[in-house]
Amino acid sequence: MARRGKAVICRQNNAPVAVEEIEVESPHRGEVMVKLGACGVCHSDLSAINGTIGMPLPLILGHEGAGTVVEVGDGVTGFAVGDTVISSFVNMCGKCRYCVTGRPHLCDVGAKAIIALPDGSLRTRDAKGAPLNIASGMPLPQAALISCGVMTGVGAVFNTAKVEPGASVLVIGAGGVGLNVIQGCAIAGAGIIVAVDMADNKLELARQFGATHTLDAGKEENLVKTVKKLTGGGADYAFECIGLGKMVEQAFRAVRKGGTALVVGVARGDDNTSLKTASITFEEKTLTGSYYGSARPREDFPRLIALYQAKKLKLDELITRTYRIDEAAQAFADLEAGRNARGVIVF
Ligand SMILES: [Zn+2]
Ligand SMILES: [Zn+2]
Repeated sequence: MARRGKAVICRQNNAPVAVEEIEVESPHRGEVMVKLGACGVCHSDLSAINGTIGMPLPLILGHEGAGTVVEVGDGVTGFAVGDTVISSFVNMCGKCRYCVTGRPHLCDVGAKAIIALPDGSLRTRDAKGAPLNIASGMPLPQAALISCGVMTGVGAVFNTAKVEPGASVLVIGAGGVGLNVIQGCAIAGAGIIVAVDMADNKLELARQFGATHTLDAGKEENLVKTVKKLTGGGADYAFECIGLGKMVEQAFRAVRKGGTALVVGVARGDDNTSLKTASITFEEKTLTGSYYGSARPREDFPRLIALYQAKKLKLDELITRTYRIDEAAQAFADLEAGRNARGVIVF
């Protein structure tokens, strides 16, 4: 049965978002329909609105969701009506070389299916990938955050970098993803966690999420030098969570010999990074990326829920404000102004 619902839609870059009524087709074979209960307002949504991430318009926004299964298509065995689920914005086919070698976030199909269903078709123009079972009793706003920001940040620490206890870490950018990198490092037992941002409220949050030192990028004359001093010669790991070549260069320079710099932030398509070539040879540093926290959602989502339930993962503290869907434009304005750790639209 087709259903009607409200959606936040971007029809034009750099214009206010619209809240419109849409129709959602019934699930086809192998699909389920999910009634969203909460959806985080992520910086990637803002990047789609302002054109940093090029997306075909009109575009239904939102990819950090949690909700309840309301209808199942033919051939679905793993889900039943009433199941609570967290969405994954990366589709995972389970058959390609990346899926079968444990790196489903790099799935060949997923890359094609970021704005459609895996077969390329659309039911609502916003189908964003396979929902996954989660423990019932998990509050939906908190569950939604796991879907993108938490998975991306904590996953970069646990899965991509594999930060070990006692490590020294630099985190550039303390927004929705950066705060999760910081808390991931704290959970992993990092010794020194240096957080860098330009906004005082973000640096305050960084401390709350486990940063041992904070630096104001606007006031710091030589960021690399200061980080080297704090970490005794350079950080073991540096996480760039903004997506700016200039900051990637700083991250790379601030890691010690043999250290690893990871680019977690999503940069514009025309942004470049330049490195001193000789330092790549003599210092044996690694520069790599982390996409969606190298997520294996079926494995990682339950672990993140367990960490939250054990009071080790901060999710309540991430939600600065909740909004009604009609307040979507305000939610994006607050995001752009850096007022929230995370804003969540609750349905
Ligand atoms: Zn996101
Ligand atoms: Zn695949």
